[in-house]
Amino acid sequence: MKNTIEQLVIIGSGPAGYTAAIYAGRAQLQPIVFEGFAAGGLPGGQLMTTTEVENYPGFAEGIQGPQLMKEMRQQAIRWGAKLVTDDVVKVDFSHRPFSIATDDLEVKTQAVIICTGATARRLHIPGEDKFWNNGISACAICDGTNPLFKDVEIAVVGGGDSAAEEALYLTKYASKVHLLVRSDRLRASKIMQQRVLNHAKIQVHWQALPIEANGDDVLQSVKIQSQAAGTITELKVGGLFYAIGHTPNTQLFQDSLDLDDKGYIKTIGKSTATNIAGVWAAGDVQDHIYRQAITAAGTGCMAALEAERWLAEIH
Ligand SMILES: Cc1cc2nc3c(=O)[nH]c(=O)nc-3n(C[C@H](O)[C@H](O)[C@H](O)COP(=O)(O)OP(=O)(O)OC[C@H]3O[C@@H](n4cnc5c(N)ncnc54)[C@H](O)[C@@H]3O)c2cc1C
Repeated sequence: MKNTIEQLVIIGSGPAGYTAAIYAGRAQLQPIVFEGFAAGGLPGGQLMTTTEVENYPGFAEGIQGPQLMKEMRQQAIRWGAKLVTDDVVKVDFSHRPFSIATDDLEVKTQAVIICTGATARRLHIPGEDKFWNNGISACAICDGTNPLFKDVEIAVVGGGDSAAEEALYLTKYASKVHLLVRSDRLRASKIMQQRVLNHAKIQVHWQALPIEANGDDVLQSVKIQSQAAGTITELKVGGLFYAIGHTPNTQLFQDSLDLDDKGYIKTIGKSTATNIAGVWAAGDVQDHIYRQAITAAGTGCMAALEAERWLAEIH
């Protein structure tokens, strides 16, 4: 790879990256995919850290996250994607061909699709690792229908629009939703605040911080510290949903691409184009609204089609 100029490099191996690779591969661009290590040393992105995926179309009975990603990876390989299981540590978009480097390898390329995703913020409290995916979740839309949460009391942590949305969404399944807000007010929009505060199934706990998750095989309770009084209480809940934000994986690009105030890559209009011609962004790295596998895959497809057309024009 060292002395040649590639057509297309894709950075990231979640649904966005592999979908872009499948489309670009079928367009005979022979994309290089830098898969990264982020999900516990495995390629495949965030879905490698979950169990059942119930809402990805095409799997009526659901599919395990790692299996879905294995299938996408195989499909990308089948269409000629060349996979490099390593993290990109440096990019140079100042002139074309662009340069993309890992610790061991530098690749020159005409075009780049960035699909480095985002990471859900965690609280790092005792018990969190034990109950992650087994009572604790960072995605109500993904996990709310899990039988674990049906007709039991659950808690949502956060005070912004996402927390309000998740709390409201979870009222459809849980018997009661405790919203744990760190400060003494909600940051959510006025309309969301009203919906939350007027909902019969939601109880807001002000200045409340979860400090420990407990249970046997599954989550059974969460210790809450009152920020005002310093007192600790135990809340009996079968679920704890984090809605405390995501961090987009954009550190690598902060000097070269336009990012929004939350650090997500800005894309132009309805396209996946960034402010640099020849660089596109797809998936959660440019989306703090939907954050779903299907939307990531959809924008990965868009980015590959846009890159294919652009490459045809410059040649
Ligand atoms: C626990 C959990 C459960 C979920 N369940 C569902 C669900 O049921 N249904 C649903 O639709 N969505 C679900 N989601 C959300 C879904 O996983 C994401 O929306 C989707 O994975 C985003 O895809 P992506 O391709 O944008 O990025 P990601 O999946 O985040 O993948 C990003 C990739 O980029 C790589 N990367 C990062 N930095 C670098 C670098 N410097 N160099 C190389 N590679 C790099 C990472 O290693 C990773 O492979 C869930 C998320 C979580 C965390």
